[in-house]
Amino acid sequence: MADGTTWHASDIDHVIISEEQIRDKTAELAKQVAADYADAESILLVGVLKGAVMFMADFARALGRVGPPVELEFMAVSSYGQGTTSSGVVRILKDLDRDIAGRHVIVVEDIVDSGLTLSWLLKYLQSRSAAQVDVVALLRKPDALRVNVPVRYVGYDIPSEFVVGYGLDYAERYRDLPFVGVLKPSVYGRG
Ligand code: 5GP
Ligand code: MG
Ligand code: MG
Repeated sequence: MADGTTWHASDIDHVIISEEQIRDKTAELAKQVAADYADAESILLVGVLKGAVMFMADFARALGRVGPPVELEFMAVSSYGQGTTSSGVVRILKDLDRDIAGRHVIVVEDIVDSGLTLSWLLKYLQSRSAAQVDVVALLRKPDALRVNVPVRYVGYDIPSEFVVGYGLDYAERYRDLPFVGVLKPSVYGRG
């Protein structure tokens, strides 16, 4: 795994969530959602680009296997830029492609940190008249508990450290790593 065989995996200090843990948790979350949404005709997953792209792909397949049919939508919002701390400013970079009125929507998030992005997004989706809006997030940091943002399905609560991998980037790198890990301090301020 982070054994130095590739340049980017060798930048990882330690793994927080392994590939296997991600796989198992994704299946478990899909089962929970399928049980809760057993009566729904379909579920509209709204993935938040780019970070959630890996989780979205895996979660959609896991849910499709055990639950109602899913449809996929993506939104891109910006809140972080290139750094590692929240700016609190949310901007829509890519909007929904279609109407979500009356739909059962589940926002698929990679990670909830301050919760600012998500709380803004939930208000936005509600303003577009979704019948129901829930959230599934693979990761959540303790800071999120300070904002009143309801995350119905959470994979893992992790410490307040900046993490990369499985969709999560540092300066657009490391998204392709199949696990979630913490970068070596020496990586910051480089390139
Ligand atoms: P929030 O608004 O909850 O603070 O975070 C918004 C977004 O910032 C997350 O969806 C995620 O894309 C990014 N983010 C938050 N924490 C981390 C982190 O530890 N690592 C990376 N790479 N991105 C993060
Ligand atoms: Mg995100
Ligand atoms: Mg980022």
